[in-house]
Amino acid sequence: MTQANPPFPHLFSPLRVGHVALPNRILMGSMHTGLEDRRRDYQKLAVYFAERAQNGVGLIVTGGIAPNIAGWVAPFAGKLNSRWEVGRHKLVTDAVHQHDSRICMQILHAGRYSYSPLAVAPSAIQAPISPFSPRELSASGVEKQIRAFVRCAQLAREAGYDGVEIMGSEGYLINQFLVEHTNHRTDEWGGSFYGRMRFALEIVERTRAAVGDDFMLIFRLSMLDLVHEGGEWSEIVELGQALEKSGIDLINTGIGWHEARIPTIATSVPPGAFSWVTAKLKPHVSVPLVTTNRINTPQVAESILEQGHADMVSMARPLLADAAFVAKAQAGDDAKINTCIGCNQACLDHVFRKKRATCLVNPRACHETELNYTPTDVAKKIAVVGAGPAGLACSTVLAERGHDVTLYDAANRIGGQFNMARRIPGKADFEHTLRYFKERIADTAVNLKLETVATVESLNHEGYDEIVLATGVSPRTPDIDGIDHAKAISYYDVLMNDVEVGQSVAIIGAGGIGFDVAEFLAHDHDSDAYSIPAFLSEWGIDPQLNERAGLARARPPKPERELFLLQRRDERLGKNLGKTTGWIHRVSLKNRAVHMLQGVSYERIDDDGLHIRQGGALQVLNVDNVVICAGQEPNRKLADELSQSGVSIHLIGGADVATELDAKRAINQGSRLAATL
Ligand code: FAD
Ligand code: NAP
Ligand code: SF4
Repeated sequence: MTQANPPFPHLFSPLRVGHVALPNRILMGSMHTGLEDRRRDYQKLAVYFAERAQNGVGLIVTGGIAPNIAGWVAPFAGKLNSRWEVGRHKLVTDAVHQHDSRICMQILHAGRYSYSPLAVAPSAIQAPISPFSPRELSASGVEKQIRAFVRCAQLAREAGYDGVEIMGSEGYLINQFLVEHTNHRTDEWGGSFYGRMRFALEIVERTRAAVGDDFMLIFRLSMLDLVHEGGEWSEIVELGQALEKSGIDLINTGIGWHEARIPTIATSVPPGAFSWVTAKLKPHVSVPLVTTNRINTPQVAESILEQGHADMVSMARPLLADAAFVAKAQAGDDAKINTCIGCNQACLDHVFRKKRATCLVNPRACHETELNYTPTDVAKKIAVVGAGPAGLACSTVLAERGHDVTLYDAANRIGGQFNMARRIPGKADFEHTLRYFKERIADTAVNLKLETVATVESLNHEGYDEIVLATGVSPRTPDIDGIDHAKAISYYDVLMNDVEVGQSVAIIGAGGIGFDVAEFLAHDHDSDAYSIPAFLSEWGIDPQLNERAGLARARPPKPERELFLLQRRDERLGKNLGKTTGWIHRVSLKNRAVHMLQGVSYERIDDDGLHIRQGGALQVLNVDNVVICAGQEPNRKLADELSQSGVSIHLIGGADVATELDAKRAINQGSRLAATL
């Protein structure tokens, strides 16, 4: 029976792409997981995709697969250029087709982004993000690369893929041919735009001729390069139209090169921030268009489609975060979706460190064959103390497996430190995780006791079979003369208790929390700082696309306060922040004129402010307040008391180890313990 008012009607309307009728408008976008790189991991990759296919994704695109060794993103990364590699890909395509879904393979030639001495490019121009200088391709070398693309597509067809996505964006080889930034050639593959786009068009035309009409061809077109001497809008329109004539079935949107110094997918990018770019191309082509970047809820996706910005939406990380995203949205259970919070901590940061990707909010992602929450044979009565990320993950997995679980928290709401994180400008999405866990607690029938401090007596009285302590951390109070002065306040008081903070502030400690507190204090909380127009203006993106590559003068907002961010170590501040997001935090604070001081020692806090020594010289920061963000200590009071009374416990999250604790470790540890009890 069809529903009278189906949820998300645009998202769940069918779409014809080439010869294929897709059931909905959701494309699982290409995302490298690390599983593509080794033959032995293809079974895991197959199960990972199959879970998403089973839950209704209309079309999947794999992570990038190189067409030859020169195109590798790094040595021994996934490639497909010989028949003996076809078998492993068949595992993937068979698994997806069992669930009536479709899968295309992305062909990605890294060009000068290849982390390898074998890198090739249109011109020998080294990328700022690579230590390797590429070799300039000769005319026959160019020909060889085109033939490699075509052969790769033919092999993909043999492997059972429904099509291929040709990666023409993000600054990879095809994109490098397209723009003057990286193409200084004067032969027929360079010079005018006609010459620069020839490489892309030859690949598409010859691939179409080789694979026939009943094979989907998608092109990922860089619509906003965001690098100096990138593409002009008129060129992008011209290329879009030429691609259509050359036999492309679907054009996907690419935003920003990897070397661009503008955030494009981090948490601080407003949801749906770039769909307007795809919308600008719509009147110029008739093939369907896919839009992308920071689309993480069905509501955002639906609104983009409803406004007519695109025909399809691409989501990659949201489907890592929740394999059942599509099925839940279609059933109207969108509140139960485990939403991607755009942190990059377990996906992109892992991939850039050559670790298998997973997800901060879903440790099963890419570990589907290894981490499973199977029903328990012996139902136990279990207490979990602390409803921060570690306790939430642990209690809900335990209850899902059939245990009788009681979850205690002293606070009046779940979330622990996430209640502070969600207040940081650009981290509002952390609230989604708390909404998700609220739903999970209800669904799994965890007995939640808020405003309840668990004690040795109360726990012993209940006679639990197992006790898990997820009691988190306490802010560290550093031993500084005058730490009790009225000017000194902890980050907890600023973020949880709304203690008033003056106009000039010194922040002691430049870890993740010090940076976040600086962001919090640097923003005017009454403004619409995170509206899409404000984001574009702050980072210098021209919404009219009058300027090349969409670049405009960045106009960061006027700082709200004078801020000093300090650390004792004599190294660049923020060095240990996330690989793919740390630079964004640094630039954002620089834009707000935050003074960053390294190698300082703290002498005292008094009526004059904070006295510090830097490079041997004494100075006084005449500030209204000193906010202490000097790390954290495990909160083990209850653990010690229980151990002393002879009760055995399990410690997880910050209560276990506070150093370098983050929510990724807390959720992973809680989930893995719960899978075994
Ligand atoms: P906590 O979140 O500290 O939760 C412990 C809970 O235990 C609390 O709710 C407390 O009330 C309860 N409790 C303690 N004792 C008892 C008792 N006896 N009885 C009942 N309840 C008790 N991490 C990231 O990965 N990425 C980020 O971007 C990020 N941003 C952050 C931003 C800020 C401003 C802050 C403060 C933290 C941020 N973190 C981030 C860190 C992350 O929030 C923590 O790593 C995570 O919350 C730790 O989880 P936990 O469950 O171990 O402990
Ligand atoms: P942290 O990263 O360990 O940083 C603590 C800071 O305090 C450091 O700058 C340290 O630098 C300083 N410090 C330590 N002991 C001190 C002392 N006795 N006196 C003065 N300064 C001292 O811890 P955090 O900032 O509290 O963050 C906690 C955890 O939350 C982190 O591990 C982080 O992973 C997570 N988090 C992550 C994010 C994110 O965006 N990914 C954001 C927020 C929090 P010096 O010793 O050099 O002075
Ligand atoms: Fe999203 Fe963070 Fe998970 Fe990556 S790790 S998929 S950004 S929630």
